[in-house]
Amino acid sequence: MNSNVLTYINTRWLLVITIGRRNLNRFGTCWTYCCESRNPFLQIFFVALSSVSIAGFLYNALPHMPGPYLHKIHFLIIPSQIISIYASYYVACTSNPGVITPDNLKKHLDYYKYDGLIYKPKTCITCKMQKPARSKHCSMCKACVGRSDHHCAWINQCVGENNQRYFFLFLYMLVEFCAYGSYLCFQVYRGMIIEWGLDKALVLDSRTGEKAVITFRRAFLYVLHHDRIIGAIGILAAVVSAVVLIFLIYQLYLASRGITTNEAFKWEMVEESVDRGELYKIVPINKTKDSLAVSTSVESFSKRYNKKKEPVEMKQEQKIESFEEIENIYDKGFLGNLKEVFFPPKF
Ligand SMILES: [Zn+2]
Ligand SMILES: [Zn+2]
Repeated sequence: MNSNVLTYINTRWLLVITIGRRNLNRFGTCWTYCCESRNPFLQIFFVALSSVSIAGFLYNALPHMPGPYLHKIHFLIIPSQIISIYASYYVACTSNPGVITPDNLKKHLDYYKYDGLIYKPKTCITCKMQKPARSKHCSMCKACVGRSDHHCAWINQCVGENNQRYFFLFLYMLVEFCAYGSYLCFQVYRGMIIEWGLDKALVLDSRTGEKAVITFRRAFLYVLHHDRIIGAIGILAAVVSAVVLIFLIYQLYLASRGITTNEAFKWEMVEESVDRGELYKIVPINKTKDSLAVSTSVESFSKRYNKKKEPVEMKQEQKIESFEEIENIYDKGFLGNLKEVFFPPKF
């Protein structure tokens, strides 16, 4: 018996005798709901965390506004930013990612052709429909999604052909919102230094015994120490902004190359197959008068794991020496790819 199966049986038996079969089943149900099904936990967490942070900022920072470094125009910008972040999140969470239905299946099948490498004609056993190229069945959304990118637990649905633009809009708004929030926190602290007269404060130098004007860094740390909530919100906003910005840049980079997150993994596997010398392209052979001419059009690809076995009757196969030989037929160029993401075809 497989050692993994034995380990599983032993672990299960151990859990049954320690916590009981009924509790184990309950745990299994909870695990399935939390980790393998669509659930709103991360959405609730996001809305709660952002609402608490916004409320904390408004309560603590508004008394210091307008200030020496913050114009009263921010009283207009702040509400518009808050509305924008919630509105973009709502749109990203509720827009159709591009679910494939019997009604739009034909249009999907016609739009993207199978490249014979990362996509071959297949049937989705759950939806009982042919899977169009670039689509993927999502076990959480329980549907096949066109040009599927990935399932995002933060928006509790898939990111696909139709809602990727809204997903990008939300990511951009989040980066901008957090960067703006972090900037406001910093400017509030700068204003507090002046409010508290710290810019003119003198400190005694313990080494020389002379009095000197306090440095900005020391004054900043002083206000940060006495009003930590604004600082905590500012640091959190800066970290979120930086992390989401990196993710947004990566996602835009993939989109501009005509690759989805799902396909990025597939291309990685293809590259590994090429490196191992397992990938061959099948090219049609046209008989001419004197010789056999290999057509340039690629019909399909094949993987050969047993390298010792020399091809006898498979003269159409050509070993792919380099990953650069493979063309991504879904790559429509930088602008073409981004146009497809931001102005997707109607299905
Ligand atoms: Zn499906
Ligand atoms: Zn999904």
